[in-house]
Amino acid sequence: MQPVPKCPVRPGDACSLCQPGAHGPEDCGLVWLVMSDPDLREQLAVLRREALAGR
Ligand code: SF4
Repeated sequence: MQPVPKCPVRPGDACSLCQPGAHGPEDCGLVWLVMSDPDLREQLAVLRREALAGR
């Protein structure tokens, strides 16, 4: 069985291929967009910390 990739921009969720044309996080346009923007990347880091703290 293939491991299910996690969505990098929705902490805790598996990748559901929600972006048109994406085959996973590796070619997801939204992930690329977030990672290429320092402000969005910082916000994502905050979300990740909150998600981890909430476990
Ligand atoms: S397609 Fe991209 S945004 Fe959608 S769940 Fe997968 S990684 Fe996340």
